[in-house]
Amino acid sequence: MFENTERTELSALGEFGLISHLSKHFTSKNESTVLGIGDDAAIVKLGNEMMAISTDSYIEGVHFDLMFHPLKHLGYKAVAATVSDICAMNAIPTQILVAIGLSNRFSLEAVEELYEGMRLACEKYNIDLIGGDTSSSRSGLVLNLTAMGRVEESKLTLRKGAQVNDLLVVTGDLGGAYMGLQILEREKKVFIEHPKMQPDLETYDYIVGRQLKAEARVDVIQLLDDLKIIPTSMMDVSDGVASELFHLGQASGVGFDIYEEKLPIDPQTIDAALEFDLNPSIMALNGGEDYELLFTIKQEDFDKIKNNPDFTVIGHATDMVNIYRLNTKAGNSFEIKAQGWEHFSSDNK
Ligand SMILES: [Mg+2]
Repeated sequence: MFENTERTELSALGEFGLISHLSKHFTSKNESTVLGIGDDAAIVKLGNEMMAISTDSYIEGVHFDLMFHPLKHLGYKAVAATVSDICAMNAIPTQILVAIGLSNRFSLEAVEELYEGMRLACEKYNIDLIGGDTSSSRSGLVLNLTAMGRVEESKLTLRKGAQVNDLLVVTGDLGGAYMGLQILEREKKVFIEHPKMQPDLETYDYIVGRQLKAEARVDVIQLLDDLKIIPTSMMDVSDGVASELFHLGQASGVGFDIYEEKLPIDPQTIDAALEFDLNPSIMALNGGEDYELLFTIKQEDFDKIKNNPDFTVIGHATDMVNIYRLNTKAGNSFEIKAQGWEHFSSDNK
């Protein structure tokens, strides 16, 4: 199957390179497998309905830092982030499974905190925790969550499907979770050096909340249904819009033109970016973990969304395949290079 003879570093492939390298050796044998590896979730056909299934891992020291991620928030966020991939298929999430690796560093009370966060998220998204696994871990807390959801075949939305001139829409605002993380890491450093100093998180409560207590946009899936909109393509924003644009464009065979002045950015994100001497628009494009939805719609559907402040049209699909252009406020235009989280690279964080 694999014919490599020399040692190859994983960093040479990157996360997406590794996925495509491994997945090409797996072909589907069952008719019920509608969609395998390569989208936000897999799709399995059950009678007249489709089931979306997705799994995510959260590893201490890689995805979260227990110095500033309270366990209850972490449990909530892990559920939200996993459910977000189900939403990305235009599916309504229904169940979740949780596998956990724990060390004896954790007390029963600590584990209860974590699961209380998960319970609250299950309440919020109306999903059932139906099983999982518990084991011991020697290297910190490890979580793996698998979410399932259902979608009618006619409403199923993939990354593939955007057509030239379709409008590119994003929900909520961008870059907040990333700037929230910068604030938390700064305050952690201050705390390590001056343990008696109280962290100053109040000024940035919104963006710190975006980092610590992410939400999946299950409400948007319901709203799209109410508005009778079926997006032509969709994914969730976990790695940053710049990176997600590439996925939508590559899957659909289109390019995208986006407009800097249209990017929805919260004032706190702007303030924090400026404080760190960073460009707010670049943060909005490259910051990860917003868990908003990025999708394309037909131009004739624009009237249905134009008065909803939760939806922002940030650009449109073009026939310049694989070209992603940012048109700046100053009237310049330049090509966007993806800077999403590349796991396995040496400077990965
Ligand atoms: Mg996703």
